[in-house]
Amino acid sequence: MTNLPVDPALVEAARAGGPEVSAARHLELATEIERANRLYYLEDAPDLSDADYDARFRELVALETAWPALRTPASPTVCIGAGTSSTFTEVRHSRPMLSLGNAFSDDELRAFDVRVRRGLGLPAAPEPAPELRYGVELKIDGLAVSLRFEGGRFVLGATRGDGTTGEDVTANLRTIRAIPARLTETLTIEARGEVYMPKAEFARINSEREEAGLPLYANPRNSGAGSLRQLDPTVTASRRLSAWFYQLIDPSSESSVATQSGALARLTALGLPVNPESVWDLDIEGVIGFIETWRERRHGLPYETDGVVVKVDRLDQQARLGLVARAPRWAIAYKFPPEQVQTIVEEIVAYVGRTGTLTPVAHLRPVKVAGSTVSRATLHNLDEVRRKDIRIGDTVTLQKAGDVIPEVVRPLVELRTGAEAMFEMPAVCPVCATGVVRDEGAVRHYCPNLRCPARIAQEYGHFAGRGGMDIEGAGWAVVEQLLQRGLLASRADFFRLDVPTLMTLDRFARKSAENLVASIDRARRRPLARILNSLGIPQVGEQTAIDVANWLAARTPPADGEPMGGDGGWTARVAAELKRVARTEPEAFEAVPGVGSTVAAGLVRYFTEPGTCDVLGELVEAGVEAERPTIRPSPAESEEAPSSGRLAGRTLVVTGSLAGFDRHAAEEAIRAAGGRTSGSVSKKTDYLVAGENAGSKLAKAQELGIAILDEEGFRRLLQVEPEPADA
Ligand code: NAD
Repeated sequence: MTNLPVDPALVEAARAGGPEVSAARHLELATEIERANRLYYLEDAPDLSDADYDARFRELVALETAWPALRTPASPTVCIGAGTSSTFTEVRHSRPMLSLGNAFSDDELRAFDVRVRRGLGLPAAPEPAPELRYGVELKIDGLAVSLRFEGGRFVLGATRGDGTTGEDVTANLRTIRAIPARLTETLTIEARGEVYMPKAEFARINSEREEAGLPLYANPRNSGAGSLRQLDPTVTASRRLSAWFYQLIDPSSESSVATQSGALARLTALGLPVNPESVWDLDIEGVIGFIETWRERRHGLPYETDGVVVKVDRLDQQARLGLVARAPRWAIAYKFPPEQVQTIVEEIVAYVGRTGTLTPVAHLRPVKVAGSTVSRATLHNLDEVRRKDIRIGDTVTLQKAGDVIPEVVRPLVELRTGAEAMFEMPAVCPVCATGVVRDEGAVRHYCPNLRCPARIAQEYGHFAGRGGMDIEGAGWAVVEQLLQRGLLASRADFFRLDVPTLMTLDRFARKSAENLVASIDRARRRPLARILNSLGIPQVGEQTAIDVANWLAARTPPADGEPMGGDGGWTARVAAELKRVARTEPEAFEAVPGVGSTVAAGLVRYFTEPGTCDVLGELVEAGVEAERPTIRPSPAESEEAPSSGRLAGRTLVVTGSLAGFDRHAAEEAIRAAGGRTSGSVSKKTDYLVAGENAGSKLAKAQELGIAILDEEGFRRLLQVEPEPADA
């Protein structure tokens, strides 16, 4: 019995090919797969798509099914991953970290069910088998890790490596906020899960890398893996990674946790993040239904999932089914097909960005892919256009990298007519006609003119836009007109615009001018992070702006009676503080949580250079005032008492009647421990405390896979000693 993907047509073809041809093909494929494994697992830079890799792998399995002698212990179908890199210390896993068999269709899932039933001696489908229940979890496209906790403390974390030996990445894992330094109980356990990079962070890092002329990550998985497998933990810390856990190895509770769903609840109760989307108590048709609901829905998740993992729920049944080669027989990964579509490159246009970089962008015939219509895709730079050989007029394959960024995969060369044209980078800036520069050895072409209207329009558009000061009605067209008419010599000039001036603009009447003035007035007061983000400081995006704002707020507590705006107000003080730090203690920026050395250097440059250092001060003069951040500064930076309660950041719902607490007292106890309470169960709920006669909330929590505590569990949760602030 095997749960590796066996495709009967491929097996037939391998048989027909005969042993010699098959052996030669096997060697060719195994060599390609080993190379792909090295690039994927050790260098985090694959050059094959997952679908192409999977297709090769399936062919390899078919060859070995037809000619079993080809399956040697060194075959990629037997080995896991690609070993470990010499950069890291090796860690031997207490139990192997396995791979998973794959299924690509409903029929392959049903075939999995057939194998499981047979393995457990249960009647064949369609006979009911109530004792066999499956659970489904989203397959998180990240990097598998195993974390060891001793006496409740996180002591060692490793990558999967070859499944037996992994790489010690403890220091890097410690920088991930979702991973607790301590569990809620003083236990010695191992927790396994997936470290991943949220889609938004992937998009942010790639756009920063693009601006800096660095090679781009192919998807959040590689970006996440590359960020975790760093020698310098501060690099990992500057990337916002997160984690979900799905496996518990706890010798002490092996008798009490009898199911995978129970293990997930236990992981949650121990304080580890568990993905809330899993569903339990299904038969195989229920599994297929679950997968169907996620086919489109997954594009709306903030993290990437490349499939669904189906698991037999009962651990005793899992043990009876056991393993085959590199994967358990009791689980299978259903992989969503990659969403690729075809369209035509109608034009390739070079756009000038905020830093002057010229980026070739493919204008495409509009096409729907992974949940939205796409009509443009960046081609990054000239080298990339040449490497992929994309020409104007080509029919191309299009997908979304990491489910977010439209990406031209390849041209369909066989469809060329000869009328396609090569793209050339313009010799002069398409906007200001300054000669385009490409530095020696660098990838990017750029317009070196700091006053290039395209650069300025981008900067000002960003300033007024949604992520910035959010001046409603000041879209790109309006900003461009204002610039062209010389009405904006600085950003502060936005706040000096009046109705008569605006009425001189094209398509502006009194009413629209009054509306714009009103929205400019509203935009005078914005959260500090948003103001910082609006400045377009190189390398500073939304999250970094939040981190810097929190840090600044902690350094500049409000003085008695101090106004927020105006000359002597808090915002002016913050602006002065930024300039002072940049001039006199630039290293302080590196101490901002979430800020690495490159970002710190960008901040120092911005707040010391004559052209930019006073921008914030000028805004204050023009009447802009910042709101103090409401987000609590991190404990290390905060001058307030840190929220060190055990339940800090957790949301609990209490339902049913408890013997030792009335509802009010239970909720008070939660708040006293730093937690939040809520009246209804949702995906955001961390625990449901369920007393006697709990009703619909209990059912809802079960459905959502939320950790459920009885009164005793609740007491235990409350009684654990608070974490020391330095943990
Ligand atoms: P896999 O990624 O198909 O599945 C196993 C892994 O799934 C586990 O190790 C675990 O890390 C992960 N996982 C995520 N969510 C999980 C959950 N809820 N429960 C259990 N496990 C969960 O197998 P693999 O051996 O890690 O990698 C093989 C796959 O990696 C290939 O199918 C291919 O997609 C990709 N790959 C691509 C290349 C390439 O060049 N593009 C090279 C090597 C591997």
